Amino acid sequence: MDKYWQSLFDKIKSDIYKSSFSDTERHYACWLLKDYARFADALLFKAPNFKELPLKERKRVIHFLNRKIRIHKKQLPKVKKHISFMLDDNCYSVFEHQGRQYMDIMTLIPRKRIAVPLSGHTAIKGNVRILLKGSMIEVHYASDIKHTSTSKNDSVIAIDFGYTEVMTDSDGKQYGTSFGAMMSDASDRLKNKMQHRNKLHALHKKYAQSNKIEHKAKAKNILHFNLGRDKLEEQQRKFKAALNAEINKAFNQLIEKNHAIVVSESLSHSFDYQSGRTWNRRLSSWVKGEMKERLTFKALAKGFSHKQVNPAYTSQTCPPCGYVDARNRKGDKFQCLFCGYVNHADWVAAMNLKSRYDDPEITRYTPYRAVKEILLLRFHRRLEMGLPRTVNGRIPDTAIA
Ligand SMILES: [Zn+2]
Repeated sequence: MDKYWQSLFDKIKSDIYKSSFSDTERHYACWLLKDYARFADALLFKAPNFKELPLKERKRVIHFLNRKIRIHKKQLPKVKKHISFMLDDNCYSVFEHQGRQYMDIMTLIPRKRIAVPLSGHTAIKGNVRILLKGSMIEVHYASDIKHTSTSKNDSVIAIDFGYTEVMTDSDGKQYGTSFGAMMSDASDRLKNKMQHRNKLHALHKKYAQSNKIEHKAKAKNILHFNLGRDKLEEQQRKFKAALNAEINKAFNQLIEKNHAIVVSESLSHSFDYQSGRTWNRRLSSWVKGEMKERLTFKALAKGFSHKQVNPAYTSQTCPPCGYVDARNRKGDKFQCLFCGYVNHADWVAAMNLKSRYDDPEITRYTPYRAVKEILLLRFHRRLEMGLPRTVNGRIPDTAIA
């Protein structure tokens, strides 16, 4: 704050020297700026006495100062509240008490530590970062990954991240099938809750603006009992943990199949999720992030190779005949408008992702539009030659239904 005011005074002083003031008036202005108590008086239009300077001149200087402050004054500097800090292993210790792990964290007062109960039991060592999240504290630390690499068959499998389930693989197996129900359920509940809270916010605002004492008390009660964040945050944390468990379970089941290479859509592309209407947008973007993170981590920990491919039109292309059309897909169902092939839409997408893995023309970085041109060209060439579809010389995985 001192720096802020001093830099402001510098600007005002240069204005004072440019002004038409007499030497005494100039001296008076600088004298006011020299001391915060005098300056405060000047802001209140009190004109402290100075060397027999008449009141009229003193007032002239005071008004000048106030005018200049109004011109130069910008937003007050703000102090940002930190939400995280680092600790090295001298600044904390970990102990267990009645089956629960605690972390003793050093404070600014010597020999006084704060014991924080932890929810986990993993060994924490080295540098940690403490994150303050509402009423919760998170401890972030680095640990070695337990590398469990089993012998892999050298086959390739592709997965398509879903909406009703965590994912579907190119063999048609679905993983985490209760996922969609969990998400829509949570999404509905969240929507209801937020509508309810919005009404309460409006009510709180109404009462807070009222002049009656009982209304003020009501506003305070609403804020305290109905609009608290602790319970809300705790519910969301639990729900996210349940979703994470479902995602993790799904990936573990996939890994049991021991494929050496897992192909997914490029994770830097935005996911092509349908039915965004029924889903809470923030929730689904969180889920996408979690899936990406899990897959990358599992590849590292379980020793399989994760390959990313271009996902453009993989949910609209017919695997047997290669016909591309947005209308091939209706929700969960895929039905080719050209050859009549019918399958589950996610399975179709997974099959197409798998064939992208060794596609010589469509790489991960081929632009969206160029992909469509390539696919259409292939379809027409196949029509002209009257050949069945054999992309890259391979026979389609599934027989035509
Ligand atoms: Zn077809």
